[in-house]
Amino acid sequence: LGIALYPQDADTVRDLVMYADLAMYKAKEIATNSYELYQADLFQKVQERLRVEKRLRRALEEEEFAVVYQPKVDSRNGFIGGYEGLLRLKDNSLSAAQIISVAEESGLIIEIGRWVTREVVYQIKHWRDKGLAPKQVAINFSAKQLYDAGYTSFLAQLIRETGIEPSWLEIEITENLFIDQEETTIEFLTKLKEMGISIALDDFGRGYSSLNYLTFLPVDVIKLDKSICDKYQAVASRKIIEGIIRIATGLNLKIVAEGIETVEQYEFFRSEGCQYIQGYLFSKPLPVSELEAIHDQNLGAVLFGQRL
Ligand code: C2E
Ligand code: MG
Ligand code: MG
Repeated sequence: LGIALYPQDADTVRDLVMYADLAMYKAKEIATNSYELYQADLFQKVQERLRVEKRLRRALEEEEFAVVYQPKVDSRNGFIGGYEGLLRLKDNSLSAAQIISVAEESGLIIEIGRWVTREVVYQIKHWRDKGLAPKQVAINFSAKQLYDAGYTSFLAQLIRETGIEPSWLEIEITENLFIDQEETTIEFLTKLKEMGISIALDDFGRGYSSLNYLTFLPVDVIKLDKSICDKYQAVASRKIIEGIIRIATGLNLKIVAEGIETVEQYEFFRSEGCQYIQGYLFSKPLPVSELEAIHDQNLGAVLFGQRL
């Protein structure tokens, strides 16, 4: 139910009905069987969302999206162990979070998700054709993309047509996926595993992060969220981080620490046995044109000189 009030919100029938309608959509988003009162900023918010949605549709039509790649440094040797592909608009007018949230709400995430996947797979092929050493690239996969029933066949087709190794690909999922749709998620992940694609559990430590997930989900990698990595100096968080790393290592899972910005953080995670380090300390996400220069560089040695 949506409610608009006369005369506070509007004084024509047309506007009152429109505002009540907007309030109703908001109520539906929040929960079933609920109501919302129209609030003055709702109209602006809806308009803004429509503007972003239009921008995204145009970006799809006119090839205005790009993928940037952030290195994950292998803390054992300092070399780049892989990349994470992250979506951008070429003109950088919206953040990835803004793009993804509107894409999810509008359903455009299905098409955008496929666009990113094709782009990354062809980038891997391109690097192979140029003779660069293969490095795994991770793609983020949003919970709403589970509605894309044809995604795994689409991916299999891309792998066939490019001839890349499936193990060069990783799919990053978050726990939202199985909170809502446990069965579909397990089916989806099992299919990816059968295809030989690696699976990472992203943003670990941000939400519920039940360790129980690790007993039945076929994941290969855990990515410790920036929010928990930032708190490594607080005793309780440090104990939790150490515990997660120990459990993950015991289960033969790889661990990536995300959002690492300082040398002290790096040294803590490395000494705890966290194999991969991703963060501005080594590199921001970079456009393809800047990647080839660092692809084979020892980023650890560049940063630490002899200390590594
Ligand atoms: P994420 O997958 O957890 O990606 C990591 C985010 O942290 C990226 O933000 C990255 O630029 C940022 N980051 C990395 N190192 C540091 C650091 O040292 N300090 C700080 N402050 N930030 C760091 P970005 O690119 O803005 O992406 C935000 C989120 O948007 C991603 O979080 C992911 O959930 C989503 N996203 C991005 N690209 C895609 C995509 O192609 N598909 C889907 N479904 N989601 C995407
Ligand atoms: Mg990610
Ligand atoms: Mg993350």
